[in-house]
Amino acid sequence: MLNIVIFGAPGSGKGTQSERLIKEYGLHHISTGEVLRDHIARGTELGQIADGYISKGQLIPDELMIRVLASVLDENPEKTAAGVIFDGFPRTIPQAEALSKMLEERGTELHAVVGLEVPEEELVKRMLKRGQESGRADDNLDTIVRRLKVYHEQTSPLRDFYKKEGSYHPVDGTGDMDRIFADIKTHLDNRKD
Ligand code: ATP
Ligand code: MG
Repeated sequence: MLNIVIFGAPGSGKGTQSERLIKEYGLHHISTGEVLRDHIARGTELGQIADGYISKGQLIPDELMIRVLASVLDENPEKTAAGVIFDGFPRTIPQAEALSKMLEERGTELHAVVGLEVPEEELVKRMLKRGQESGRADDNLDTIVRRLKVYHEQTSPLRDFYKKEGSYHPVDGTGDMDRIFADIKTHLDNRKD
């Protein structure tokens, strides 16, 4: 069993590296951004609420987000058996505390946090490019600037939170994608837990 959090600023490459990780380790991928975008596309009640926050570059409130994550986690018990890669969650300290508790209640734990570290100007460039190519509505300059501010204020404190726990593994998220993946693998295969 291997449960990992892939951590990083918006545009840091969490989704890209997650795809490689699920293949390599047979993990189940839970991307909260994708879960929410799927609800928006289907026009569910959650989707309507989420859209209001996402289009402003804000976070969905913790209490709601934690409930959503718990239900996704319990949706496919057979798929999560080998382990889960959490992408986009946690984004706040209360979410991190809730995640530990949820895993503990299910008889397991978080094994590692992989942090993709990418300079801000590179993040902006990548998201503007993604916005042009994919049409993702929150990848416009205005919303990108707000998301980065929210990241610095609410999410980046999690680095110290997990560093103190000894589970944070920083990886240089710039340059060749194969090299980034190899670095992640080295961290995961040599971790002590
Ligand atoms: P990346 O580019 O690395 O995939 P991202 O920040 O651009 O990351 P998503 O993870 O797809 O994008 O999230 C998109 C939006 O969904 C966030 O800006 C936020 O509004 C909302 N969201 C996703 N996860 C959470 C969460 N854990 N808590 C609160 N809001 C969330
Ligand atoms: Mg993503």
